[in-house]
This record gives sequence, C-alpha cells and structure tokens, in this order.
Amino acid sequence: MSDLAGIDPSAVRLGSIREMVKAACIAKQRDPGAVKLIAVSKTFSAADMAPVLNAGQRVFGENRVQEAEGKWPSLRETYPDLRLHLIGPLQSNKARDAVALFDAIHTIDRPKIARAIAGEMTAQGRKLELFVQVNTGEEPQKAGIMPRDAAAFVAMCRDELGLRIAGLMCIPPIEDEPAVHFAFLAKLGRELGVTGLSMGMSGDFETAIAFGATHVRVGSAIFGGR
Ligand SMILES: *Cc1c(COP(=O)(O)O)cnc(C)c1O
Repeated sequence: MSDLAGIDPSAVRLGSIREMVKAACIAKQRDPGAVKLIAVSKTFSAADMAPVLNAGQRVFGENRVQEAEGKWPSLRETYPDLRLHLIGPLQSNKARDAVALFDAIHTIDRPKIARAIAGEMTAQGRKLELFVQVNTGEEPQKAGIMPRDAAAFVAMCRDELGLRIAGLMCIPPIEDEPAVHFAFLAKLGRELGVTGLSMGMSGDFETAIAFGATHVRVGSAIFGGR
C-alpha cells in the first residue's frame, strides 16, 4: 500500500477501525467506551507493531504463548500500560508462562485448564481477566466448552476454584452466519450472569457489537494479511 502522507498504513487502518467501532456502538445506543478493541498481532513483529503502538493502541491479542514471550517482555518495558490478551488455545503445561505474561485469557474451556490457571494465579499472586470459550457451532475440531456443558463449567470455576469469570468468548464456524452465534453467546451470558462477551473479528466485529460484544478481536483489518 502507498504511504503518501508518511503515515504507516496500519496506523491509518487502526484509525478507521476505531471509528467503525464507535459508529457501531452509536447505531445501537451503546456507550463506545464499553467496547474494547483488541489488536491481534499474532505473526507480526515488534517492528510491524510500532506504528500501532505509536498511535496509542495498548490492548493486544496473541494466540501462542511462546510467540508472545518472544515479542512482549521488551515492549512491556517501553509501554508499561500494555494489556495482553491470550486468545488462542492453551495447554496446561503452558499455564505458568501464560499467567506470568498475559493480563487476560479468553480460552478457558475445560476443568484441567481452569485448575491450572487458578493454581498459577494463586502461586504468582496475579489476577487475570478470564473468559470461558464456548464452542457455539459444536465443531469437533474447535476448542471451547460445548454449550450444554457451559453452565456446569462456569459454576465449577466459580464455586470450586473461586474464579471470577469476566465473560464468554466464541469463534463462529466460518460457513455460518456469525450473527446467530453472537446472539446465542449473548443469551448464554445473560443466563449465566456473565457480563463480558469476546466476539467479533475483522470481518464481523460490527455485527458482534450490534449483539453486545464487549471485546472485539481484530487482526488483519489493522495489520494487513498474514
Ligand atoms: C487470529 C484471530 C483473530 C483475528 O482474526 P482477523 O480475522 O485477522 O481479525 C481473532 N480471534 C482469534 C481467536 C484469532 O485466532
């Protein structure tokens, strides 16, 4: 892409996404401050992220613990107010590293992971914002708790492990109309008394906001194709 004004294209795209988030909120009489834009920087280097950091973006999402460990510790020294969200599947042998590096985890989806994260938060004296991932399309290859098991799982996280569940998260099947999944997740959130909704990516974040998203995870629409 050309760089006519000397402004990096990713900073320009970030600006338009912010405007689109605001407009989607206003269209639904929602407070624009109630939707957090997570810039998904997976596969991009610290140099790729610099223009977006310079434009004031401080909330980022990564899908791999190891990749994030290579990029973020040094950036955290420069930008102490960074907030890092883990949005990819988590193995329990990575729980310690994940709790040490991230501020939020969107992919709590089974008792083993919930226990590992709870144990690490206690051991490290850290409190992360936790989301339960729901496999709304019931896809066998996809992570996430099945919808029918979600209530018991959230109850177990709360009552047995003393975890505060900040929200629910979903990734709709690519071939489906995302609105159906966003509406479903919002309804499930109301039933479970969970207020946060992490839903919506580059192609559908405005729809997600219309259905109540509190966190949208936008990668390629900011950073370009991967
Ligand atoms: C990569 C990823 C995103 C961002 O996807 P884009 O289509 O690039 O916006 C959002 N959520 C999750 C879980 C991802 O892995």
